[in-house]
Amino acid sequence: YLEESISVPNYLETELITNAFNKMLQRMRSVDESRQEFVSNVSHELKTPLASMKVLADSLNSQEDVPIEIYQEFMQDITEEIDRENQIITDLLSLVRLDKKASGLNIEVININELLELVVKRLKPIAAKADVELIVDSFRPVNAEIDKTKLTLAFSNLVENAIKYNNPGGWVRVSLNADHKYFYVTVADSGIGIPNDSLDQIFERFYRVDKSHSREIGGTGLGLAITRRVIVMHRGAIKVYSKENEGTTFSVRIPINYVA
Ligand code: ADP
Repeated sequence: YLEESISVPNYLETELITNAFNKMLQRMRSVDESRQEFVSNVSHELKTPLASMKVLADSLNSQEDVPIEIYQEFMQDITEEIDRENQIITDLLSLVRLDKKASGLNIEVININELLELVVKRLKPIAAKADVELIVDSFRPVNAEIDKTKLTLAFSNLVENAIKYNNPGGWVRVSLNADHKYFYVTVADSGIGIPNDSLDQIFERFYRVDKSHSREIGGTGLGLAITRRVIVMHRGAIKVYSKENEGTTFSVRIPINYVA
């Protein structure tokens, strides 16, 4: 028995070990690369509002007797850039917290109908301002083992996007359904849609379709990355269907009983 356990690995075993080792090395390299890319994206995104603020402040400083209207306009622009910087930092902190393995989930039995009603209630003012109708369809009462704070954030992101990337007079429909194993939430909108060649990328950090148009609308490009992360932590899945100029539907599936 002893001899067997200390025997030198044969050729096949050596090959297997080498392969496994190479795979691990490859994985570590790609993790390292994506981390570097993330840091460089973050730096870029944080620098953009700063650069705008600098230009605005410099041009105010270089003029004497700036008319009060111009001064106010520039100050307003500076305030918007500060808000943007703030939003990026808030979203980044959420992501970083989610990425920490130790953070885990705070699982409780939660009524999903009420959770969705709350999400929609909070976003009603934004929808009203954008002239978008918000509708909730709950086909049956659903109680599930989930992290309430994190899933509220995830669904809020989806509904907020559906309002933001919509047209005046449009609608957003949030539906809840369930079977014995999963509950299903869909967030459908009548909005601008997503081009086919962007569908794979929208969940990536900082990715935004049409940067200039999205910039007017406002956002960080981190919302969907956060949403997907939260859903995957719940062992769930998210899918997107979209047609340009017609609308988008995000469909989410999450197990009713949490599997650790
Ligand atoms: P953002 O802060 O830009 O909204 P997200 O990560 O939430 O970032 O979304 C990434 C991009 O996906 C958005 O910039 C937008 O171009 C696109 N997108 C997300 N949701 C929708 C939607 N419901 N309709 C159309 N485009 C959307």
